[in-house]
Amino acid sequence: MKTFTPSRTVQIHGLAQKKRSLGEKIYNFSAGDPLIKVHPSITDRIKKELSSNEFPYPPLKGLAELREKAAAWMGWNMENIIVTPGGKFAIYAACTVLLEPQDEVLIAAPYWGSFPEIVKIAGGEPIIIPAKKITGKDLRLHASKKTKMLIFNNACNPTGTLYNREEIGDILQTAQSLGLTVISDEVYSELVYEGAFVSAAEFNEYKENVITIQSGSKSFAMPGCRIGFLGAPAKIAETVSLLQSQSTTGTSLPSQWGALGALDNKESVTRYVRDAMKKRRDHFVRTFNRLFDDKIEAPASALYAFVPLSHFKTSLNSVDFCEKLLDKYNILIVPGSVFGDGSAVRFSFAEEEKMIVDGLEALKKAAEAL
Ligand code: PMP
Repeated sequence: MKTFTPSRTVQIHGLAQKKRSLGEKIYNFSAGDPLIKVHPSITDRIKKELSSNEFPYPPLKGLAELREKAAAWMGWNMENIIVTPGGKFAIYAACTVLLEPQDEVLIAAPYWGSFPEIVKIAGGEPIIIPAKKITGKDLRLHASKKTKMLIFNNACNPTGTLYNREEIGDILQTAQSLGLTVISDEVYSELVYEGAFVSAAEFNEYKENVITIQSGSKSFAMPGCRIGFLGAPAKIAETVSLLQSQSTTGTSLPSQWGALGALDNKESVTRYVRDAMKKRRDHFVRTFNRLFDDKIEAPASALYAFVPLSHFKTSLNSVDFCEKLLDKYNILIVPGSVFGDGSAVRFSFAEEEKMIVDGLEALKKAAEAL
């Protein structure tokens, strides 16, 4: 029987929910999604469509109207867009379609923990490049004859790193010269607090080798709907839809209606989510820097602060540190080893502001006692 490594972040999030259901107060710094009420544009659209009382199979590639709107958002044409049950499945589908056994895939660390696992499930081999911000030079140094792909994450989970136009151009140009396909995971594109987001799909000269990934989970704060998008050259998009025809049979219709509600009101929905998350980020950074001697910089994007363990003056490794905090103090932080860098831990600032303050104060006491 095959076996798969569980998503550690999903696992830890589950543990937080379990502790809560047992009535325990926990300080949850592990959330991977904006913990706010969903914008009414999303629920209103779902309610309106539901009133037809019809639930046919969805179109395999997604509703035409949704693909059109997603194409405008992501910088593709409609025929390049496939609606998927979540961004994670879009990455999984792209890897499954493109990778042959033993193909190597470059991934910069710290990385989102599912990247290497998805590559392995698809039969490929992840090659980890330790680089908070990857460059064309890094690709040249780590590519071999077997290298087929780069998984590039802009804006980045867990570090909040944001790439500018020049940096992306350098990466795409080098990838093309090495014959690599680039999967550009852009699911945090609307959660950018400083600087401007640039999509890999904006580079027409490299588009033949580029796949972009989007999601409703972060930008529209609707992760429970499981809706994502793949933008890819038409042949790849077509093959992903064939994979869907033999696996998911497309994406749940109510989720697609919700995404339509979000994209029809994209400016107000994304501003609503971004403003709330920026407030929480600022609150997190301000409180952290008030309590701890070693200060942190505000992450430019996404939902996380990736903080070196040295800030807590602990001799424990990241897993032991997080396990102790959870067991003894009900503080949930994700060990950096989950992201390929055990020298740090990841805090999510997506929770309510009171939890952030109470949790950091509890952490300050706990870190002194550990
Ligand atoms: N990419 C990154 C970098 C993520 O952090 C996540 C979720 N945590 C995803 C993709 C997947 O998002 P979803 O499947 O919910 O769309």
